[in-house]
Amino acid sequence: AKAAGKDCVSQYDPAFRTRQTERIRIVERLRHALNAGELTVHFQPIVELDTGTTVAVEALARWLPPGEPPIGPDRFIPAAEDSGLIIALGEWVLRRACADAAPWHRANGVTLTVNVSPRQLADDEFTTKVRAALTDSGLPPTALTLEITEGILVSAGHHSAQALAHLQTLRADGIRIAVDDFGTGYSSLAYLRVLPIDTLKIDRSLMPADEHDIRQLALVRAVIDLARSLDLTTVAEGIETAVQGELLHRIGCDRGQGYHYARPMPAAELAAFTASTVLG
Ligand code: C2E
Ligand code: CA
Ligand code: CA
Ligand code: CA
Repeated sequence: AKAAGKDCVSQYDPAFRTRQTERIRIVERLRHALNAGELTVHFQPIVELDTGTTVAVEALARWLPPGEPPIGPDRFIPAAEDSGLIIALGEWVLRRACADAAPWHRANGVTLTVNVSPRQLADDEFTTKVRAALTDSGLPPTALTLEITEGILVSAGHHSAQALAHLQTLRADGIRIAVDDFGTGYSSLAYLRVLPIDTLKIDRSLMPADEHDIRQLALVRAVIDLARSLDLTTVAEGIETAVQGELLHRIGCDRGQGYHYARPMPAAELAAFTASTVLG
């Protein structure tokens, strides 16, 4: 059996089979959940470091199966991506988030940012779906940012020209593009040249623990300087302490997101939160 090679061994590996079975079961349950209304969107504030006010919110998918604990996106987004269900799920999240955010935007100018998977950008209908979500909700295009990951052109494979075309069309409409998890990939700099982007979200793995974390601080400072020289807005992800927030502000980061400011929360709580932290 060993002579049959690595692939065969792993296929009959019970742990591998269990994972595959679990993944298929999750996709089936997720498809049902989407139709049954068990998905929801939570929103996490993004604050301007100069003022501490909430200027944007990120939409984050949540799955709430009745009578069970909530299931986080790390457990279902990868399965949704593999199966292609992410196309329907992503469209649902986008429409829900735009509908929720439109009144917040009218009330105090808060903008919305939504995660987009590479599979969605390989869909011919992506531009049409985004435009429909905006028209139907009344959210203006300039109030929407799409978060893409650095791997988008690679993961989209032969669809990468398609992905780029969607991004260029949508950006011409006024929609903003952010690169998510910046600093985790290998070819970050090449993407900055190719993609039409407005914002860099600096991955929380680059976050310095405190002012004594010299190497990490030098890294994050270099990323911020680079982004500023390209006229990009910077958002630091995973700010968990006041010290980190002050540090990032001092080195010129524009915005922060993290548990120090607020956790992701349901739409009803977010409305109350922004009302208390937004000027005017
Ligand atoms: P992400 O886009 O990088 O989102 C930020 C994640 O960091 C969220 O996890 C958020 O709850 C968490 N986070 C925020 N502040 C802090 C902090 O201070 N410390 C720590 N340790 N974590 C913090 P969440 O909601 O579990 O989402 C995980 C990932 O799932 C997201 O990472 C994103 O890649 C993906 N995801 C979520 N919703 C969607 C969606 O609607 N579509 C797609 N394609 N992906 C989604
Ligand atoms: Ca994100
Ligand atoms: Ca991120
Ligand atoms: Ca500033």
